[in-house]
Amino acid sequence: MSRYFQGREVELLAPAGTFEIFDTIIRANCDAVYFGGPGLNMRMMRKGYNFTREDIVEAVNIAHGLGKKAYVTVNNMLSETDVSEAGEYLGFLDRSGVDAIIVQDLAVPSLLREQGLALPVHASVMLNVHNVEMVRALQEFGVTRVVTSREMDLKTARIIEEQTGIEIEYFVHGDMCSVHGANCYISSHLFGMSSNRGKCLKPCRWDYRMKKDGYVYSTPYPLAAKDMNMYEYLPELIDAHVTSFKIEGRMRDKEFMASLVNSYGEAIDRYLEDPVGFERNVESEKMHKERKRDFSTAYAFGKPGLSNINQRFEGTGKFYSTGKVFSTPTAERETSESAIDTAREWLTNTAVEKAAALQNAAPTSAAPKLTVRVNNMAQAKVALEAGVDELFLSGDVLLPDRAFGRKEIAELAAIKGNTRLVLATPRMMNEIHFEQYDALLSRGVPGLDALLVTNIGAVRRFKGFGLPLIGDLSLNLYNHMAENMYRELGVERLTASIEANLPDLAALLGRTQGEMELTVHGTPVVMYMEHDLYENTEVYEPIAEESNQYVRDDILVLMTDKGESPVYKDVHGRCHLTTSKEICMLPVVAELMQAGISHFRIEGSTYAPERLSELLAVYRTALDAPERAVELASSLEPTFAGFTLGALAFRRADRSTPANLPTALDAAPSAEEASEEKVAPAQQPVLQETKG
Ligand code: SF4
Repeated sequence: MSRYFQGREVELLAPAGTFEIFDTIIRANCDAVYFGGPGLNMRMMRKGYNFTREDIVEAVNIAHGLGKKAYVTVNNMLSETDVSEAGEYLGFLDRSGVDAIIVQDLAVPSLLREQGLALPVHASVMLNVHNVEMVRALQEFGVTRVVTSREMDLKTARIIEEQTGIEIEYFVHGDMCSVHGANCYISSHLFGMSSNRGKCLKPCRWDYRMKKDGYVYSTPYPLAAKDMNMYEYLPELIDAHVTSFKIEGRMRDKEFMASLVNSYGEAIDRYLEDPVGFERNVESEKMHKERKRDFSTAYAFGKPGLSNINQRFEGTGKFYSTGKVFSTPTAERETSESAIDTAREWLTNTAVEKAAALQNAAPTSAAPKLTVRVNNMAQAKVALEAGVDELFLSGDVLLPDRAFGRKEIAELAAIKGNTRLVLATPRMMNEIHFEQYDALLSRGVPGLDALLVTNIGAVRRFKGFGLPLIGDLSLNLYNHMAENMYRELGVERLTASIEANLPDLAALLGRTQGEMELTVHGTPVVMYMEHDLYENTEVYEPIAEESNQYVRDDILVLMTDKGESPVYKDVHGRCHLTTSKEICMLPVVAELMQAGISHFRIEGSTYAPERLSELLAVYRTALDAPERAVELASSLEPTFAGFTLGALAFRRADRSTPANLPTALDAAPSAEEASEEKVAPAQQPVLQETKG
C-alpha cells in the first residue's frame, strides 16, 4: 500500500513490540511497521518484546502480502561483542527480505559493505541528524532515509529534503526525550545503563528543584517532555516533504496503538482525498481523552520553550507499559577502592592480551599526551603555561564567556610554544555554523593546528581545509569498526565514548589500532539540550533562599535530595547539564596507558584557572611518572561534590545480543550486586523506552 500527494509518497509508519501486536497493526491503516529483532536494538530490557528470527520472516511475508513494508531496528550503539555477532545477523536480515534497517552505529554500514549486502539503511533518530552535511555524509554510506533530530523544525526538514533528495522520516506521535538524541549520557553515568544502547532509566522524568542567584525554585519535572502529537498538522508535514510519519511506541499495547494508527491513517486519507475541505481535528478530542501525558508539537514549528514540558501524570516514576518504577533520584557513584582495583585488573588484562596479539607488530613508544578543553582565555593561558600537548578551544563556549574567534586564536598562537592549538566545532551545527566556520577557515587561521569535530557533517565539510581532524566525544565511539569508518573519512584520532563501562572500554581498547583519547578528568556534559532550563527562573516564584554548593550562584543547578548538578548555557543558547562529581581517572592512569589510551583529556571548561593549573600539573606528572599516579591521586581534593569514575565504575557485562538477552529481572542487579554496586533495589532497571 502506498499513498501519494502531488506525486510525493506519504507513509504512515507504526511501531510493534511483539509479533502479536504486529499482526494487528500491519492490518490497521498504516503503510509500514517497524520492530526490533532478537538483538542489537533500542528495546532490549523487556522479556517477550522484540521479534524472533522466525517472527521476522513471517512478519515480512505478511507485510509484503498486504503490499506494506517492514523495517527492523538495528539501532543501538554497538559494543565489540555486538560487532562480532552483528555480521551474521545482518546476513539473516538481508535474506529475510526486510525493506530496510534503522541504524545508529557506523559499524553497521561498515559490516554491510564488508559482506556485500545491499540492505537499505535508514539513519535512526539516535544519529541525531540535524544538518545537510550530515545527510550527505550518510548518503555516502548508502543511507536512503533519515529520521530527523527531534529538535528539527519542519522548515529545516524541507530544506534538507530539497537539497539532498533524502527521504525524511519525522516523529509525529509519542514519547519524546528532552535531550538531543545520542547526547544524553546521564543514565550511563548514574546507573551504567546507556541510553544509546537502549537501556535508559529516565532521570529526565524525576522531580527536580532549581537554584539560581541564591533562590530556590519549585520546578516540578523540568526535563519531562510532553508527548508529541502532530495529528492536526498533517498538511504541514506533507508540505515539509516528510515521507514517513513515524509513530513512537514499541512498548505500547495493541488496542492503544491500533486506535492511534487508524486515527492518523484515516486523517491522511481524508487529506489526500480532499485537501481543501480537510478537517484537522476530527479525532482530536478522542486522542486527548486517551492521552498518557499532555501533548505538544515539540520543535515542529520552532523552539517550544516551557510549553513542551509536561507535569500532568508525571511523578509516578513508572513506565506506561509495565507500571514498574524505572528509577528514583540517585547520587553519582563515589570512587571506591574496589572500583579502582577492578578497573586496574580489567585494563591490565587488556594490555596483556593486546600485547600478546600484537607481538609481531612494531611497538609504539609515543609518550602519552595531555589535552584540555577550555572555555576562556584565562584557562587557555594557564594550559599553555602548563605545556599541555593539545589545547582545545571549545566550540560551545559557556556563558558568560565569549566564543573563541580569529583574534583570540591569534593571541594564543603567538604564545603556544609546542602546544597544538585546536578549534572545536559546536556539538550541533546548523547551516549558519557551517557558514561561520567556512568563512573562518577558508581565509586561513595562522597558528591553528587542528579541528576537534563534533558531528559527521563537520567531518565531511572540513576534511578539505588542510587541518587534521580529531573526533570529539559526541561521535559516541564505542567500537573499532566505527573507528575505522571515521579514520577512512580522514579523522586522525578518536575519543572513546564517555558511556563506555569497564568491559566495553577494555574491549574497545583491545581492538583499536590507532591513537585513542579518553576524558580522564572534569565534569563532562551528560545532557546537552535545546531546551532552555533557565526560563524556569523567569516564570516561577522563588520558594526559599539558598546558595549553590559548588558553583557560582549565577549558574543554575538542578537539585534532588541526592545532590545538585550545574546547568550551563552556551553561546548558541543550548543548555549543558554536567556531572555533579568530577570524573577523576588519576588512580588508573598507568593502566589506561598500558591498555592503549594515548591522549588523556581534562574537560577544563568549568574550572577556575588556578584549579585547572593544578590539575594539569598533577596529570602531567602522572603521565611522565605513572608510578606516582596513586600517590598524586590520594593528595588531590575535589572541587565539586566528590570524585567518580563515571561509567567506568560499572562492570556488569552490557551485552545486547541474542545469546545473552536479559529478561527484565535478569537485567536487574541481584540484591547482592545492588549493594555491591550501590544501586538501590527501587532503582533497578526494568526496561527502557528511549526513543529510537
Ligand atoms: S535518553 Fe531520553 S529518556 Fe533517557 S534520560 Fe535522556 S532524555 Fe530522558
